[in-house]
Amino acid sequence: MKKIKYLTFAFGIVLSVSILTSFLVKESGFYFVYPDGNVKALIMSYDDGTVDDIKLIRLFDENNIVGTFNLNSGFLGTTQVWPQKNGDTLVYKYLPEDSLTSVYKNHEIAAHSSTHKDFKNLKDEDILQEVETDIAALSKLTKRKIRSMAYPFGNSNQHIAKLISKTGLTNARTVGDTYTFNLPDTFLLWRPTCHDSKALGLLDKYLSLNNNTLSVFLVWGHSWEFKDEKRWKEISNFCKQIGHRKDIWYVGCGEFIDYQLALNALITKNNSIVNPKGNKEVWFKQDGILKVLKPGESIKVKMNQI
Ligand SMILES: [Zn+2]
Repeated sequence: MKKIKYLTFAFGIVLSVSILTSFLVKESGFYFVYPDGNVKALIMSYDDGTVDDIKLIRLFDENNIVGTFNLNSGFLGTTQVWPQKNGDTLVYKYLPEDSLTSVYKNHEIAAHSSTHKDFKNLKDEDILQEVETDIAALSKLTKRKIRSMAYPFGNSNQHIAKLISKTGLTNARTVGDTYTFNLPDTFLLWRPTCHDSKALGLLDKYLSLNNNTLSVFLVWGHSWEFKDEKRWKEISNFCKQIGHRKDIWYVGCGEFIDYQLALNALITKNNSIVNPKGNKEVWFKQDGILKVLKPGESIKVKMNQI
């Protein structure tokens, strides 16, 4: 039930946090930041888990970039043939099961359903079966908690998102590009900024963004698309320019949403912001100084206009 509430009310909560922040900035130079003190974040979300991920991960690692990799556990170690709408046939070679922890050492491993069926054509129990089987297999293979997912073919809707809220996942990504850097309004129907083929076109806009509002540049794609040399040059260029920066938090979807949930759990009352016991640490800047608000602590702020 708690997850369904997140889904239903996430928009209102995110909105209230951002309104609160904008008032506070004006009143007292106070604003929330990510754990590294920044207000900008980059997430690279890549689907399917083919062997082409290895080359992309080398590029990410060279540029200090973190990826979330959404895997079809039912295909690990196999080769699959995928007919395309335009008549082409794509052949994908999937990573072997025993390679995951070394290939994705510095990156998040996430679900993408067991066998990549279109959820819009499945019964509810079959959707849950596809997702829960994937989560169980990936957890067993990697000994990690699986928190994130990308929908196969990007296809989802409110009903499917409610089903997914039963699985323990905190976030699930669609392919409904927003071309903005806004925080997600619903975590289980997370709309990304853009496909990687459009990322270079938005790069300067994000690098030059200069305000005190939390934002995220969420890029999605498939490493198997980079067999095209032009596309590989473009993603290499993008990573070189956006990587290794002091003003960007490089993070995976799961860790990013954990932090959003921590911010959403804050309570405001009597000119104070309270971080409830059991919540995570949250970070803020006040008059330019980076500070932490630990669980169980509160801070006085001017909120005359609220
Ligand atoms: Zn896929």
